[in-house]
Amino acid sequence: MWVVAEVDRALRFLMHRRRRGLRVELDVGETDTAGHVVQVLGIPLTEVGRMTVDGVPVERKVRRNTPLSPGSLIRIGPRDRPQPHTGRFLLDVHLGSLTRRLRLLGIDAAYDPQADDDVLAVRSAAEDRVLLTRDRGLLFRAVIPDGAFVRFDGTDDQEDDFLERFGPTLAPWTRCLVCGDVLTPAATEEVAGDVEPGTQRTYQQFSRCSGCGRVYWRGAHSRRLEAIVERARARLETLRGPAG
Ligand SMILES: [Zn+2]
Repeated sequence: MWVVAEVDRALRFLMHRRRRGLRVELDVGETDTAGHVVQVLGIPLTEVGRMTVDGVPVERKVRRNTPLSPGSLIRIGPRDRPQPHTGRFLLDVHLGSLTRRLRLLGIDAAYDPQADDDVLAVRSAAEDRVLLTRDRGLLFRAVIPDGAFVRFDGTDDQEDDFLERFGPTLAPWTRCLVCGDVLTPAATEEVAGDVEPGTQRTYQQFSRCSGCGRVYWRGAHSRRLEAIVERARARLETLRGPAG
């Protein structure tokens, strides 16, 4: 049977080339669902916000089960920005630089350079993490609770897109850049064995990672990291406008 999909312009870049258009007619099976049609077009369901079938809104949870009729019109729009999220993220193996950036900003960003697609999918579900990936195909897996396609190659662009898409609350310098766990304040005497004596004398504020035990101190951050934090703050301020 034939159905029609109308796709918002913002999602067009995700569509398979041969189906790329804002209004697409598709020949589908009697039992194919609305969610199936979206994915046939090349669009992961994680990227779809507003969606209607013959004018009736279809909630995210039932998209893979929503039946179609001959001639059905499926309207497909992008996710709201900022997109609601759990505050916990999981990044694909190619996103190591973005992971460090997010941790620097205090965002809970899990990362395992050894993880394959199966591990990523299972972990995102087990820990209810939003999966960030450059791999569109990975986002097609039904087990993934929520995700986001990372559109850009450069870390600056990836970070900007993340901030715009999720509008997170920043808490810079509160997480370990290496393992992502939370830092807790540590007394100067307590870190004696872990830092150079000169460092211990020069700085007063130390913190220790509750995960890997690594010690951080104020002043340890390079200008480059300071600049990243300032840039993110400015970016969010611009997005939220003068009232925010
Ligand atoms: Zn750590």
